[in-house]
Amino acid sequence: MTKTEQMKAVRDEILVLKESPLFQYRTENNYYPVIGEGSHEARIMFVGEAPGRNEAKTGRPFCGAAGKVLDQLLEHIGIPRQSIYITNIVKDRPPENRDPTSAEIEIYGPFLDRQIEIIQPRVIATLGRYAMGYIMKKFDLDLELEPISQAHGKAYRGQASYGDIDIATLYHPCVAVYNPNNLDSLKKDFEILKQYKSA
Ligand code: URA
Repeated sequence: MTKTEQMKAVRDEILVLKESPLFQYRTENNYYPVIGEGSHEARIMFVGEAPGRNEAKTGRPFCGAAGKVLDQLLEHIGIPRQSIYITNIVKDRPPENRDPTSAEIEIYGPFLDRQIEIIQPRVIATLGRYAMGYIMKKFDLDLELEPISQAHGKAYRGQASYGDIDIATLYHPCVAVYNPNNLDSLKKDFEILKQYKSA
């Protein structure tokens, strides 16, 4: 199967994921699941938390206020959005943008795992503490796990099935939506990704 076919298989399974605690909320609101977007050849894969309202209405990740901040951060480091792959751990919108539950992370996590195997990124940039917690544990980096106030802007080396993988732990861009003063520190943290721009 090609990467596109494998990604479509992931999408098709999520579309009918009736076991998800968020499935009914999705259908009642005519929302879409948000699978992910970007290059299947990306060296940099971003993992956020869960879709917000704009994302669930369009099926596209990071297309609302947090997405605007993400676009500014990518521009700051000179990385075109179409060269990366962006997804979330949880693929359906939690009501009122509440934090995802562990049951939700458990049901959607294996889909993210498959997407990582499809894309085979050189670095995963985690956005926020939920993505950081999931990805650090997945790559057996639990012992290095620190609160995000300590971990932000750092990179950790892990081993993927296909070779070395780095995990760059970043604050979620929404921290600059709530407080624009945080934009400068986010920009500085994002600079860690510049080294992964090209092979
Ligand atoms: N916040 C996220 O974590 N993901 C999105 O797709 C949008 C906002």
